[in-house]
Order: sequence, then structure tokens, then C-alpha cells
Amino acid sequence: MRILGKGALRGTIQLIKKLDVYELRVCREALCKPERTEGEIVGFDTGYTEVAALSNGAFVGQKFGEKLTRFSDYCKDKGQKRNKLWAKARELESSAKEKDRRKAQNIFKHNLGRKKHNAKYQRAQDSIKQEINKAINSIVQGKGDGLEGVKVKELVIEKLSAHMGKTRSKNWNRRLSSWARGYIRKCLEQKCKQFGIRLTQVNACHSSRVCPACFYPSKDNRVSTDRVKCRNCSYEGHADTCAAKEILRRRSGEIPLYAPPGKVFEMLMVQYKRGLEVPKAPPFSCKTQLNESEGEKKSLYSRDDQVFSTSQKRQTVACISQ
Ligand SMILES: [Zn+2]
Repeated sequence: MRILGKGALRGTIQLIKKLDVYELRVCREALCKPERTEGEIVGFDTGYTEVAALSNGAFVGQKFGEKLTRFSDYCKDKGQKRNKLWAKARELESSAKEKDRRKAQNIFKHNLGRKKHNAKYQRAQDSIKQEINKAINSIVQGKGDGLEGVKVKELVIEKLSAHMGKTRSKNWNRRLSSWARGYIRKCLEQKCKQFGIRLTQVNACHSSRVCPACFYPSKDNRVSTDRVKCRNCSYEGHADTCAAKEILRRRSGEIPLYAPPGKVFEMLMVQYKRGLEVPKAPPFSCKTQLNESEGEKKSLYSRDDQVFSTSQKRQTVACISQ
């Protein structure tokens, strides 16, 4: 449909039927702010219990994991029950008795309808999307716990594979978290463009297995799902925060974006050993190390392997409303 005449809306609107919900898509031009020149460079690690852990220690979107688990449990439970009903209805349908066949028709109509099911699915999905939007807004606007007054000029994120968000796994948990990760990525790209924040992708293999204090890489550093304890220097911390710090460190670009996990581990070991050889710069704490790498960054700033540029001043952003 094309909008005629003069008004706030211009161009084309799209009406899309998604499951049982109609979506009206309106395109409008969004003003993108110029790229920020001042502020912090922050590592961003997508978590399972929260939307993300940042290298400065902040967590955003803390209800994310809980909502995702509830959603996946619901899908699993509902799916199993519906499968059972399907099997029963099919069996009754092929029965010779008229009564059974009618029963089957009733099951299809009253117990296996898609309308309510789809609406509930949509609501749960929207609630997770809302949590993600809120979390990313708090980063770009510098609001919320641990982010008050923090101005981010660049976000360093993990490179995601191309088919992220399109998994058709039977495991609901995996399927939904990969969908959510795809959405987080989409949301990040849009918001960062809009607010003039540079997005840099790095290879994040083994990022939660490297100690942020001495950079010793080991599988055994990960002592539980959310804790890291270094086997070398006994540093202890939250696994996701450590991963975010490591992602930030990889911004130097020393580890190639497409290096396979095995190769990455070898390189990490080389980096760690090299650190031991230089007596002048012993890795005291993660803070001093990050400051040191700040110096190198200046020279690396002109690298052209940045993935998303914010140079376009005006961007068309799709606005979704129901
Ligand atoms: Zn350590």
C-alpha cells in the first residue's frame, strides 16, 4: 500500500499476517547520530541468564534467562501434549465407527486449534523481545545498574555464525536461545547505528576460559556454569564478565576473526607465554592490562575491518506496531 498526500508517514506500509497476528509495518526515516568520539570501549558478552554481561562488570536484562526458560518449558510441555493428542485423533479418525470419527473431529477442532496457542506463543516472544530492547537501551543511553553515566562509544561483540537464529532444533531451549541471540544482534545493530556507537566483531572462541588477570587459558578455569577460578593465579570472578573482558581484549585483532577454536587456543597459549617472557610488564591485574591496550588501540583505530559503519547519517528503520 502506498500512502498518498502529506503527513507524518511517507512511503509504503506493509500489512503482514504472522501466525494469527497482523503486523502493520511503517517505514520512517530515523535520524542517526554521528559516531561518538568520546566515551568508553566496552566488551559485550551475550549470556544465558542475562541479556549481556559487560566488561565493566555490569549486567543488563537480568530477567532474560528466567523468561526464556519459562517459555521453553511451556513450548516443550505443550508440544508433547499436542503430539499425544494428534496421535490419538489420527487413530480415532481411521476407526470404522462413526462415533470415533466424530470424536476425532472434535479433538482437531477443540483441542488442537492454533489460535490460542499462537497468541500465547506470540505474547511470550514479545515479552522476551521487550527485555532485550530494554537491556540494549540501557547500554546506549547509559542508564541502569552499573551503567549510570557511562557513555559507550564502541561495543565489542562476539562474531556470530550466519545461521544464528534459524536453528530448527528439537530442543526448545537451544532453539529459543538461538532465536533470542539473533534478535539481540539485530537490536544491537539498529540501536548502535541510531546512537552513533561503533560495533566491532571479534573471534570469541574460548573467551570464558581465559583468566582476565594473567590471561592463562584453560578449560579448567571454568569451575561452574557462572564462575571462573584461574588455575594459575587463583583469580575468581563471574564467567560472563570474564568473557566480556576477554572479548574486549581481543579487539586488538591479534586473533583472526575466522580462526578455528583449536587454533585460537594455541594462539592464546602463545600470548600467555609471551606475557611471561616480558619481565617489565607482568600482568598484575586486569585493569592495568586494559589500560595498556588502550594505548595500542589508538594506532589500530584506523583499521578497516570494522564491520558496521555508522557513517550513514540517515537510516531507514522499520517500525513495528500491531
Ligand atoms: Zn590468572
